[in-house]
Amino acid sequence: MEFWLDLNEEQQDLREWVHGFAEGVVRPAGAEWDEREETPWPVIQEAAKIGLYGYEFLINAWSDPTGLSLPVANEELFWGDGGIAMAISGTALAVAAIYGSGTPEQLVEWVPQCFGDAAEPKVGAFCSTEPEAGSDVAAMRTRAVYDEASDEWVLDGQKAYATNGGIANVHVVTASVDPSLGSRGQAAFVVPPGTPGLVGSKKLKKLGLRASHTADVFLDGVRVPGSCLLGGKEALDERLARAREGQRAIRQAAMRTFELSRPAVGAQAIGIARAAYEYALEYAKNRVQFGRPIIENQAIAFALADMKTEIDAARLLVWRAAWMGRNDRPFTSGEGSMSKLKAGEVAVAVTEKAVQILGGAGYLREHPVERMFRDAKIYTIFEGTSEIQRLVIARAISGVQIR
Ligand SMILES: Cc1cc2nc3c(=O)[nH]c(=O)nc-3n(C[C@H](O)[C@H](O)[C@H](O)COP(=O)(O)OP(=O)(O)OC[C@H]3O[C@@H](n4cnc5c(N)ncnc54)[C@H](O)[C@@H]3O)c2cc1C
Repeated sequence: MEFWLDLNEEQQDLREWVHGFAEGVVRPAGAEWDEREETPWPVIQEAAKIGLYGYEFLINAWSDPTGLSLPVANEELFWGDGGIAMAISGTALAVAAIYGSGTPEQLVEWVPQCFGDAAEPKVGAFCSTEPEAGSDVAAMRTRAVYDEASDEWVLDGQKAYATNGGIANVHVVTASVDPSLGSRGQAAFVVPPGTPGLVGSKKLKKLGLRASHTADVFLDGVRVPGSCLLGGKEALDERLARAREGQRAIRQAAMRTFELSRPAVGAQAIGIARAAYEYALEYAKNRVQFGRPIIENQAIAFALADMKTEIDAARLLVWRAAWMGRNDRPFTSGEGSMSKLKAGEVAVAVTEKAVQILGGAGYLREHPVERMFRDAKIYTIFEGTSEIQRLVIARAISGVQIR
């Protein structure tokens, strides 16, 4: 097979289409929703109306055999505005969990309910992090206990920092079924709309991505039908039996979700970085000091050259990981983590440089680079911090259980 890096026609069309929405609808609304710190429902609805927010879109993107559709779409959407784009994309994390661990029947039942419809859009939430279990997923305390008599699972515990937590129609919650097995004793459950016992905190106030809802989620005797265990009881029992025998579990629920979503998250970071870079480039061509545009100084021009080079390098890592993930190539060197690590660090460095290139103007809210700088920081933190990505890569390349 030949090797090439051109996007095909479908992917180019997708890129243009999402870019049009990002430019026409998302970008102009960015500052307002950042200030309001509220979920931008009207914008989510606009996205739903044109088919950019909905399960058909996501399933279509995932079915692209090259794996590139989702990263390409994400980069454009987040180029528009990080906070609004996260409000639109947060649901994808819940969907990825259902897609990654669920049966085909569970997919058909729950994925559409994550989105609602254009008349009444809904959101989904993936709740894994806990107050005592962030990077250390194995420390999870939320318990799921099976009630054989009623064929129900009972969930108790607390989740932290969940995107769309408490306001979601469908929550996907990870919980420990057998704490003695650590992360191998965990499973993921769908909590259907309106289930009693699940309560969200009020929206948490954040540095960036302020349009996106983040909240803690409390689970108090939450009863869900047996059919809400993603993957089904038989598969879980088999997995637990293997783990008890000391065999390597095939994949764990939360880890599997992260594997699927890391390149797509990296692409979001690249979108924000590219937006900041483009803005700074234009500014540098127009801003005159000492009688000439500031870009005529190597210090500024070289900074922009580095920004562009880093963005393109990160994108190649993201595309590679997306392609590998879609084509079931094993991540023998932690390539999924590499893509997210690089993209996150590039987004932070590039947006910071963009603020610097704008000088005092860059520090003011009048210009979007200030917001982009705040938005970018999350990409070295969520979906596994940069340190955790390095841990995954270091373990993969060395075979040593680095701590
Ligand atoms: C805006 C936002 C949205 C989020 N959305 C979701 C969501 O939808 N669902 C969800 O489940 N979670 C979500 N999270 C949680 C996020 O994934 C966690 O915050 C993240 O995984 C880090 O966990 P922590 O905050 O507990 O940090 P900690 O794990 O407490 O880490 C603190 C510091 O210690 C470092 N560290 C920890 N262990 C090691 C180690 N072994 N070696 C080296 N350094 C280490 C970390 O890298 C970090 O720098 C969200 C968080 C935010 C802020």
